[in-house]
Amino acid sequence: MIISESLVEKLLQKDKRSVARSISIIESENSDSSELLKVIYHKVGNAYRIGITGPPGAGKSTITNQLIKVFLNENKTVGVIAVDPTSPYTGGALLGDRVRMNEIGLNPGVFIRSMATRGSLGGLSKTANDAADIIDAAGYDYIIFETVGVGQSELDIAQAADSTIVVLVPESGDSVQAMKAGLMEIADFFVMNKSDRPGSEQAITSLKTILMMKNYEDKLWFPTIIKATAVDNKGVEDIANEIARHRKYLLDTGNFQKRRENHFHMRIKEIVEDRIKKILWSSEGQRKIHSSLDSLKISDISPYKIADEILDNFKKQL
Ligand code: GDP
Repeated sequence: MIISESLVEKLLQKDKRSVARSISIIESENSDSSELLKVIYHKVGNAYRIGITGPPGAGKSTITNQLIKVFLNENKTVGVIAVDPTSPYTGGALLGDRVRMNEIGLNPGVFIRSMATRGSLGGLSKTANDAADIIDAAGYDYIIFETVGVGQSELDIAQAADSTIVVLVPESGDSVQAMKAGLMEIADFFVMNKSDRPGSEQAITSLKTILMMKNYEDKLWFPTIIKATAVDNKGVEDIANEIARHRKYLLDTGNFQKRRENHFHMRIKEIVEDRIKKILWSSEGQRKIHSSLDSLKISDISPYKIADEILDNFKKQL
């Protein structure tokens, strides 16, 4: 199939069905997908990208849902890329939560897409960013990446945003867990959600202590902690304001451009790695590797030497 002009035309006019179809094309990862992404690229770059991550059940979807309403009130449009909201890690979205997300997805100014983590060969971050480019080109003002804070590719996705928000809850030890999972490093600011629960002040204090111990290189931005009870819509305006403040800081300091450049480099690396993996693990690639292994017995030839030979063969295919 060749990308039809009418699909591109409608996509650029923010036609939701065309946005959805275009994302399906890039998810299928055939030759059309890179073609489509090349054709629309001159329209990419205007949307502000927000990453929302944190442990399962912390309230990421609830916050996303409420933030969308704040943006809609400002006459802005929003695209959401939710990475596997039904994963066993999250315990699955509750029916009520799903209904709520589906409802807001019907709003003409909102586009929501879920992506599964299963079955992707480490290319999840690439696909999520490709999908964001589609939504960006369509002209949405904000793009929210909602990911569970487990696993490297989820962190990569959250980090590829302009502003990254880590959501925590007062449950004991949460901030320590978050530290272990590498969430502390990527947060531009934190949300302590479920502040209606006991222990919230204490959790904020211990998070503050952890943050004070960290040596942040950038003296102009120190990650703040926003207190929220998203389920009652408390603190959501504060989150929106903090996003705006962070955006202003990035623009004022030139860090916006720097970040985008870093992400641009990261994407190119991802695309190259993805292509290499695809060739390497294609059925032909696998057959070659297996046939090189078939006749081998344990011998004095180092496995590194054999790996070198396999890679030399592989290079000839590039
Ligand atoms: P996610 O897995 O991080 O996306 O979490 P969800 O947004 O699906 O929320 C998990 C559960 O916590 C849902 O039942 C929400 O209604 C509930 N929840 C979200 N925010 C709050 C809050 O501020 N307080 C309380 N008590 N519950 C909340």
